[in-house]
Amino acid sequence: MKRPSEMTRAELVAEVLRLDGEATDGPWFVGSDNQYGINVSGIFSEHRNTDSVRTLIVETGGEFCDLEEKDADAIAFYRTAAPRLARDNAMLRARADWLLARIVTEEWPGHGDDCHCRTCKAIAAMFDVLEDANND
Ligand SMILES: [Zn+2]
Repeated sequence: MKRPSEMTRAELVAEVLRLDGEATDGPWFVGSDNQYGINVSGIFSEHRNTDSVRTLIVETGGEFCDLEEKDADAIAFYRTAAPRLARDNAMLRARADWLLARIVTEEWPGHGDDCHCRTCKAIAAMFDVLEDANND
């Protein structure tokens, strides 16, 4: 599998949404919870298991896991934020496609890929941002 830094934005969006679909349901949070009578700190999902206990993703500060809380914060935050940003990116791409389709049809004759007006340049710049492969 490619590393995220090697992926195009479209590949990143697809991979984030695939992982979102396969991972334990979010949102995730960092905190403490009573797990079968034992107080546990770590990353939890709001999702509850069959015993109606919040799902522990990973323990922080445990005897066998030295995941620091600052890293746990990042993981839990990204788990919720990344799918939302991926869906936003896909929605913006669809709207840009729709807008370009309107421009290259008879609705705005003379505009499109070869036009250098400010509107067409702005749309081209938007596509550059959405399609930019590896320049981050
Ligand atoms: Zn134009």
